[in-house]
Amino acid sequence: MDIKTKERSYRISPEELKELKFAGIRKNFEHHYTNNLLYRMYCELLAKHGIGRNVTPDDIKTYEDLYKIPLIPSDFFKELSRIGKERLLITRGVEASIYFTTSGTTGTQTKYFFDRESLKEINEENVFTCRDILEVNDNDAVIFLTPPIEKSRTGLIRGGYMMFREIVGDDNIYFLYQEEIEENPSELLENLVGKIRDKCQGRIHLYGPPFVYYEIVEELRNKGKRIEIDGNAMTTGGWKRWVGGEIPKEKLYEGIDERLGIPEKKIRDGLGLTDIFMWCPECEYHEKHVPLGVHVSVRNPEEFTAPVEPGEEGLLSFMSPYIKSYPAYVVTGDIGVETVSVDEYCKCGRVGNAVAHKRRAKGTQPRGCALVLEELLKKMENERI
Ligand SMILES: [Zn+2]
Repeated sequence: MDIKTKERSYRISPEELKELKFAGIRKNFEHHYTNNLLYRMYCELLAKHGIGRNVTPDDIKTYEDLYKIPLIPSDFFKELSRIGKERLLITRGVEASIYFTTSGTTGTQTKYFFDRESLKEINEENVFTCRDILEVNDNDAVIFLTPPIEKSRTGLIRGGYMMFREIVGDDNIYFLYQEEIEENPSELLENLVGKIRDKCQGRIHLYGPPFVYYEIVEELRNKGKRIEIDGNAMTTGGWKRWVGGEIPKEKLYEGIDERLGIPEKKIRDGLGLTDIFMWCPECEYHEKHVPLGVHVSVRNPEEFTAPVEPGEEGLLSFMSPYIKSYPAYVVTGDIGVETVSVDEYCKCGRVGNAVAHKRRAKGTQPRGCALVLEELLKKMENERI
């Protein structure tokens, strides 16, 4: 079963879901294993260093076998960008001319290269997820609490823009800031909402990082004002402020309810999956749903080839069947937990899985990986690739 030949739906059985994930990722793995020399050498080196077994596409016969596919630590992508060798990860025969970056404020940004076909497939899945889970509809408007799209290459803004544009159209997407993040965001929002309200036939949604919501709410509170928003408040990106610590989630939700008239069940956080250019939006029960074709697992930080027991914390790992330009099989540096397994249904009635992000992992990379990367780069150099 292929995701394209069957209608996308969260109302399928766990067996069908597993069949769908298996088919997509098995095919994608064969493509990268065959055409990506760096990845194939990486797989071989991992095995040589005793980090997992050498796995070839022939070894992937069942859904359970997907766990054997060698994962790449997020830091690999970062390190390759840092030394200017990020293009090494591009798979042969794919025209990957478009790139996006992480939104990191310090240090080198990680670059991810894409071809048009992969972006189209990713976006189709993101659009479906957004319509189904967030209930954003054709006549709605979306206000990005960010600078305009042409000022940004970050996946968070670019990916969100591609997705919402497909649903509401270019004309119904607005940006809070003209150039960069400015003072008085609540005033800007009030003016923008005033302008849009008469034109928009549907609901008005907000989309942006938590700290901007926080500033808007604080400002409105200080002024004793309210702005009525009838859509969702969608948050994505980290829960840290530019200065100061973590944003208190509960307090922010109360503030959004009180000052923007958006109740808690319509405040939807999303977990951005930077390395695979997708996200996991929350349903009405605040479960972060993993896109249908994506394989998620939680890995033991000490031994990342092995998944942890169900319900236990570990490193969040994702494999995307949609990306042809690089092997998007990633073990992140984030500790998380699977809250709905692939064999279960969420309270909202949708089939699994769902995940929760807990915190950044201590240390930089899973054990042994720095060594493997070093050896890999040396090998590539010697072979002048
Ligand atoms: Zn749900």
